[in-house]
Amino acid sequence: MKKEIKKIVSYSSFLALILMSVLACSSSEDSSSEEADSDDGEEAVTELHAAFAAFNSDAVTAILSDDGTEVYIETTGYPDHTSVYWETDNALYIDEPDVSKTTQDTYIGGGQGEAASFTVDATPDLTGATVATQLNTIGIAVSGASIFNDQEGAGDLDQAAGSLDWAGAHKGPGVYHYHLEPTPITSDDDSLVGILLDGVFIYGRQCNYTGGTPTDLDASGGHTSVTQYTDGVEEYHYHIINEVYAAGNYAYQPAYVLFAGPFQGY
Ligand SMILES: [Zn+2]
Ligand SMILES: [Zn+2]
Repeated sequence: MKKEIKKIVSYSSFLALILMSVLACSSSEDSSSEEADSDDGEEAVTELHAAFAAFNSDAVTAILSDDGTEVYIETTGYPDHTSVYWETDNALYIDEPDVSKTTQDTYIGGGQGEAASFTVDATPDLTGATVATQLNTIGIAVSGASIFNDQEGAGDLDQAAGSLDWAGAHKGPGVYHYHLEPTPITSDDDSLVGILLDGVFIYGRQCNYTGGTPTDLDASGGHTSVTQYTDGVEEYHYHIINEVYAAGNYAYQPAYVLFAGPFQGY
């Protein structure tokens, strides 16, 4: 389950960790040292996953914990793309005449702001047990903004789909967030979309390994294969499921739900 953040790793200990990692790698002859069990039984890694390099570094900071079992992720929540939800004097503001903006009349950076921070497992626990997603941030996209599920308030997304911008996102009183395939990030391709709070990465509708739309996905859109960030190693990951979401009032058809859950990695 999601763990509370105990402390922010200091810069000096972060450097020490890198040094220790280098020493550990250079002195180790055991090829399995990259994934060793730590004291509490959590799997540990020696370096941050390569996929984090794809995140918008102006917004997102990811730091591996000292023991290598968790990744602390902090984001400003500000996406690096245009939207009708920016303030009109912002360079990234665009008019989207077919979008019916949310009634709170807020803008990105307004209201309760966008900042968020989470700690995720460095290695997801793929035990077969699933956990339902919640009505709030369920992941962080490579743009820096939040990922939500297919629910809006207490109901399904249909009622609010008209307020979603070209990125499949909107902003109410809380953070700016995606519900649908975020087309500034991925549009029917294999791009990395982000990481969910169970520590599993999510990609676009195509898989880098199969070179097309995967046909072996589980109920969460997940399967195990190599990806462009795993250096030939098979790894469980999610995809946006290639199934048109019939949201009649969405301004940019067709729509694809970003993630409808459940989590597989808790
Ligand atoms: Zn929403
Ligand atoms: Zn895949």
